[in-house]
Amino acid sequence: MRLFTSTWRFYVAVILVIGSIGSLFSLGVKEFAAGIIVSVLLILPELLYFLKPAASIWKKWDESASSQKQQDRIDRARSGDLTPRWVDVKGKIASFTGSDGGVAYKTTLKKCSCPDFAKRGVPCKHMFYLADRCDLIDR
Ligand SMILES: [Zn+2]
Repeated sequence: MRLFTSTWRFYVAVILVIGSIGSLFSLGVKEFAAGIIVSVLLILPELLYFLKPAASIWKKWDESASSQKQQDRIDRARSGDLTPRWVDVKGKIASFTGSDGGVAYKTTLKKCSCPDFAKRGVPCKHMFYLADRCDLIDR
């Protein structure tokens, strides 16, 4: 399992937990509890995403997948016309190398950091690739 551990929220949460443990000795239980609660809230979105079943996350895209343009993206996702860096089916996340070779895209079943998704707001080939690997697309 691979959560998006590289995000700033995760690092801030780790620092907060360490700080909270420190404050348990210097300040008190209240400060410790506050620090822990804030840490949990910071990573809550990713935790909830991880716990939610893949099918219920993907459901919102069901209609958009039926158009011809989206079918083309599904075909491209299956033809191997992209370069996954890693795919975590259990965590429902993946990372792809961008077409220019430099940037790495972060992909979940909800969104993708590629320009195609940013522009259109419907699943891109990366998301279809991940959805396909998660067994969410009919063959
Ligand atoms: Zn994408």
